[in-house]
Amino acid sequence: MVESTLQVDYVKKYNRVKCEDLLKRKFFYVPSFEIYGGVAGLYDYGPLGSQLKSNVEQQWRQHFVLEEDMLEVTCSNLTLDEVLKTSGHVDKFADFMVKDTKTGTCHRADKLIEEHITKVLGKKKDMKQEEKLNLLKLQDDAGSMGPAQLDETIKQLGIKAPDTNNELSEAQPFNLMFETLIGPTGQLKGYLRPETAQGIFINFRRLLEFNNGRMPFAAAQIGLGYRNEIHPKQGLLRVREFTMAEIEHFVDPTNKQHHKFNRVKDMRLPLYSSDNQIQNTRVIIRDLSLGDAVAQQVINNETLAYFMARTYQFLMSVGIKDEAIRFRQHRPDEMAHYAQDCWDAEVETSYGWIEIAGHADRSCFDLTRHSARTKTELVAARYLKEPKPIKLVKHTVNSKEVGKVFKQDSKAIKEYIDEAPEERKQQLLAEMNENNQISIKVNDKDFVLTKDHVTFEVIDKILQEEKYVPSVIEPSFGIGRIVYCIFEHCFKQRAEDAQRTYFTFPPLIAPVKCSILPLMDKPDLNRFVQDIKSMLTRAGVSSKIDDSGQTIGKRYARTDECGIPFAITVDFDTLTEESVTLRDLHTMKQVRMKITDLPSNITQLSYGIKTWDEVLQQYPLFQSGAAAE
Ligand code: AMP
Repeated sequence: MVESTLQVDYVKKYNRVKCEDLLKRKFFYVPSFEIYGGVAGLYDYGPLGSQLKSNVEQQWRQHFVLEEDMLEVTCSNLTLDEVLKTSGHVDKFADFMVKDTKTGTCHRADKLIEEHITKVLGKKKDMKQEEKLNLLKLQDDAGSMGPAQLDETIKQLGIKAPDTNNELSEAQPFNLMFETLIGPTGQLKGYLRPETAQGIFINFRRLLEFNNGRMPFAAAQIGLGYRNEIHPKQGLLRVREFTMAEIEHFVDPTNKQHHKFNRVKDMRLPLYSSDNQIQNTRVIIRDLSLGDAVAQQVINNETLAYFMARTYQFLMSVGIKDEAIRFRQHRPDEMAHYAQDCWDAEVETSYGWIEIAGHADRSCFDLTRHSARTKTELVAARYLKEPKPIKLVKHTVNSKEVGKVFKQDSKAIKEYIDEAPEERKQQLLAEMNENNQISIKVNDKDFVLTKDHVTFEVIDKILQEEKYVPSVIEPSFGIGRIVYCIFEHCFKQRAEDAQRTYFTFPPLIAPVKCSILPLMDKPDLNRFVQDIKSMLTRAGVSSKIDDSGQTIGKRYARTDECGIPFAITVDFDTLTEESVTLRDLHTMKQVRMKITDLPSNITQLSYGIKTWDEVLQQYPLFQSGAAAE
């Protein structure tokens, strides 16, 4: 067991100023509309950042969509307000805001509390353990506090507006969705979607049909989400437009087992359970296998645990350090009323623990709501092992008679009876048998119908299958946050010269896989450079030529700054031997190999099929280049 607030070593050593300087200098990402002064929470990715982000998305696709056979969709960003009313976002998708009473600047109340406590803990090193634990608990709780509790905590801690030290207003809810009008006359209200999930729920029927009615199955989507964050800060971590990657895994609520759970059941994930948060023990459980976690109901079900394991593997594959990952369970007070269990994958950064992916069992809430609102059946069927004889109530409406008597109301009356659930039909049958008439209320009007209008009879049926509304397990990732964590975790300074900064991205997600450097700007060498470039491009390996006149050492440093894991140097031996040197960014060691060996080696290194150590064993070490660095 480990205290959950210990900062792992590299976070303590991390130099944010230097890392941000490098990110900006190499145009990984910059504020949008920079020359107009920028807008908080909006960022543009430059060539290296875009490529890296796209590689992370591709790895996500490979790891989840392809390996788990998911159905990927691309749904509209502009979303009809009815959809988001039904999902609850119009009423409830809000954060609490407090205002600086003099300047009117808005702040997110829970974040002010969290940041204030981080500052106090940083300053008062000699604080008593009990006081420290109480503050940490308040920090954990801030995100789920209501307005009264937020006001009370702000008062209790004496929090004032940052920068001005002015008093703060009372907390008020602020809906985070961007509203818009669709069409030239603006008759349709809409929103920029705050999450991609709703598009999947709306298409559930088609997805199930596409999957030949087979359950369970998962659909996935990578796309933009928009949230009008109250006070965006911390770079890519809290922005107003961001790429999300979401999975909606539909399961039978009576059976949430996962057919591949066996493969992960022995894995031990760092679990920060709800109980440990409530008891404020601040320990992370590291010794419980996922199999036991599900058996002991620490994690609600196999499918949820399976996805947590897959997320853990995914995060490590893109360069996030395992010792800086934990899974924090939502406490009952922060979970939506319909949710069964939720676990956030959190990563420790220089800004503290950041949620980068949520794993929620949303039960059947979304499908039930959309189904009720649109009167569309959003259900799946489970085949019964043994067919079940049942009795059903069948009704027959005499449309001619109903139309004659009830005129313009007849359509609604007919719909009411047609759509009545089985239980209601049984009541109507009993009422008709007893009174020879039934009384119904449709659109707030009362009607009396006799056997001339409608009849009911009991029929025998053999049930082969049972319909049910599927539950949904939702892993939801913020790609920008993951990219930010990768930057922090892969940022390095050379031990011998701290000014030499670089990124050790895993080759899989590195924006460019290798650079090609002619030792000198000579036509003979340049011819090889172009040939190598074409050969690598044909093999699907991205490369970048640096034929500037700078020394080879300076060019290696430049390659390192861009996080390019391998560098090929074309030198004078290339002319006679058709071989080059291949340098690894991490160890700075070089080997010599034939040009024709490059594509397969770099591809295998990039996809983790081969390690650099294996390359070192296979090819002769090249020594003399090292002096140039
Ligand atoms: P949520 O639906 O709030 O659980 O968000 C899903 C994921 O989106 C989170 O785990 C984050 O990784 C990411 N996310 C949420 N809000 C933001 C934001 N304002 N900026 C960047 N990423 C975000």
